[in-house]
Amino acid sequence: MTAPAAPPHRSSARAARLPHGAMLACAAALGGCSVFTTMYATPGPKPDVHPLPVTGTDLFDWKGVIHCHSYLSHDSKGTIAEIAAACRRASVDFVAMTDHQTDASIRDGQRGMVGDTLFMVGCEQRCPQGTIMAFPLTTPIKRWQHAGLLIKDTEAQGGVAFTCHAELWKAWDQPGLEGLTGVEIVNLHGDRHDYPAVQVDALIELCRSILARHPAIVPRNVVGHSDVAPRRKVDPGLRFPWARLATAGIGLWPRAGARPVDGDMQTALQRFGYPPAADDVTTSDIIATFQRRFRPSREDGIADRETRALLADLLEQVGEQP
Ligand SMILES: [Zn+2]
Repeated sequence: MTAPAAPPHRSSARAARLPHGAMLACAAALGGCSVFTTMYATPGPKPDVHPLPVTGTDLFDWKGVIHCHSYLSHDSKGTIAEIAAACRRASVDFVAMTDHQTDASIRDGQRGMVGDTLFMVGCEQRCPQGTIMAFPLTTPIKRWQHAGLLIKDTEAQGGVAFTCHAELWKAWDQPGLEGLTGVEIVNLHGDRHDYPAVQVDALIELCRSILARHPAIVPRNVVGHSDVAPRRKVDPGLRFPWARLATAGIGLWPRAGARPVDGDMQTALQRFGYPPAADDVTTSDIIATFQRRFRPSREDGIADRETRALLADLLEQVGEQP
């Protein structure tokens, strides 16, 4: 795979091959359609240099967001200025804008460098089999063709292709789709169906390798789609094995028995990293989002004693006053 062209003020010789993990790092750390419209500041060291050199090779680890919508599609209200500002705060090297390959998104979408971040447009493509992400592309690929042809066209331009929102019924395992680089984990049925063990094992291995290379991604910043878009997003779902991931050193999991948080839940949730309440997202929605992640047995939006105790323990784990 060829990485996006290096920013002009960095060494142009740095156009490097892009490890898969580098792109998925963003999914782990920032992922989700609406991340930038709800993103909040969380603590954590910033890397001194980016893209990060990969030890023992002449490669670079580029940090990016591979699925990002803006006001140009229904999945987000975020403006380019807001997205660019969030990218700057998170030291993001590139962002694949996935406002579908509509005329408006191609015409009005941001492309090229904004500050230190490379913007690419048209990276989410619809096809009869579902949707794929394809980037970087030098010319738009033909719309609405078989996914296998989209993958071939993408490869011909040196790009990579991922399945978006894979579903069992979408038959992504059929012949002709062998060129896929990866699969997005966006399971809208994660409340009802367990994740296959083989997928969880692969995810743990991938996340561990990413986190080892990127110590700036502190455990509290390993979040799910629902965490960054309370009420609007529910994935990865109640059955996502967050506790198992935490045991493997990925993200946090609360211990039982802490003294419950007193007082205003909204303030305490924000201290941990959840966004503020807004016109269309109440504190109760955010409590339910917290429970969805950390107490999936009851997601009712009520700050009962157990919910308050779990939040207190998490705040203690990240060094905040409960
Ligand atoms: Zn999308």
